[in-house]
Amino acid sequence: MRFIDTWTSATLLAVRDLTPGIREFLLRPDDFTGAPYPVGSHIDVGVTIDGQPQSRSYSLVGEIDPQGFRIAVRHAADSRGGSRYMWSLVPGARLNITQPASLVQLDWTRRQFCLVAGGVGITPIVGAAEVLVRRDAGVTLHYAVRSRGDAAYLDTLERLLGDRLIVHAGDEGRRLDLDNVFASLPQDTMTLFCGPMRMLDAARRAWEASGRPPTDLRYETFGSSGLLPTEAFRVRLRGEGTEFVIPRDRSMLDVLNEAGHEVMSDCRRGECGVCAIDVVDLDGEIDHRDVFFSDHQKQASRKICACVSRARGTITVDTLHRADAP
Ligand SMILES: Cc1cc2nc3c(=O)[nH]c(=O)nc-3n(C[C@H](O)[C@H](O)[C@H](O)COP(=O)(O)OP(=O)(O)OC[C@H]3O[C@@H](n4cnc5c(N)ncnc54)[C@H](O)[C@@H]3O)c2cc1C
Repeated sequence: MRFIDTWTSATLLAVRDLTPGIREFLLRPDDFTGAPYPVGSHIDVGVTIDGQPQSRSYSLVGEIDPQGFRIAVRHAADSRGGSRYMWSLVPGARLNITQPASLVQLDWTRRQFCLVAGGVGITPIVGAAEVLVRRDAGVTLHYAVRSRGDAAYLDTLERLLGDRLIVHAGDEGRRLDLDNVFASLPQDTMTLFCGPMRMLDAARRAWEASGRPPTDLRYETFGSSGLLPTEAFRVRLRGEGTEFVIPRDRSMLDVLNEAGHEVMSDCRRGECGVCAIDVVDLDGEIDHRDVFFSDHQKQASRKICACVSRARGTITVDTLHRADAP
């Protein structure tokens, strides 16, 4: 699903370090009304990367705050630079942001909910926990982090949930075992997940193994850092002698479009599939970072989402663009 984005100006009122790698930003749009927004809402924020305007999405933390919109950004060191830009901002900075929009749909008639968060994936989960507690629903939150020091909003969540918050800190040897968690949930539980791709894959597998209806597992994705390291790879075009190197800080979509190949796209975060390109040969491995293709389609690797997915080695694709087409 896509939204028609309406941009508005906002002021950064305050920043606060939640953990060594996660910083909170309080933003107040000029036209702020304090109207409630749906659970799981995010805003897009205009960022500048290498002097070029781009945007990044950030989940709103918690239910409506009378002061403005609260977001929390993880500093992604190995990245194109959106989070670095956010971290460079100081109070008083002016920004462009969109209105809140939500991709998360929950069945509020359920009485039992399981929330699962990995790392900064806690951001949309805080508001969900608040709403569910207010509605007096049965709710447990499993929060996976490297260590408690990396767990943003821990105090808030402990106050809110008490022993219904279970922290799985890797350095305490308390790894999250999703097979066990899902197997022991009451029937008719709806689960909301937000975490990295590897964890989402594990969650989908464990959910399937538990025999529960696939639609009862809802998730939010933040885009993915993939399963392989982010390195340069090569793209060859079928029937042409052309070969491109996709550098580690650029997407295949951008490189092909800059070369005039007119690859269509929409969401640019691996959700809509509009930029999917046919793969005709593969010398290496594709790192599918989208959530559009099924596991089966990813294994077959006959298509690639050019906006987010990457590869190791060389892939030959057919963009269906014909330079001599009328
Ligand atoms: C709905 C939604 C909500 C979100 N909410 C939050 C939030 O609450 N907090 C938060 O911190 N983030 C959130 N994000 C992610 C956020 O939008 C940015 O993607 C994030 O800040 C990283 O941006 P970046 O430019 O620094 O990194 P990107 O370049 O976007 O990289 C993201 C990751 O992909 C890998 N990567 C590196 N280079 C490339 C490349 N060339 N192509 C593709 N991938 C690459 C890196 O490993 C990196 O960690 C959300 C995203 C969505 C879609």
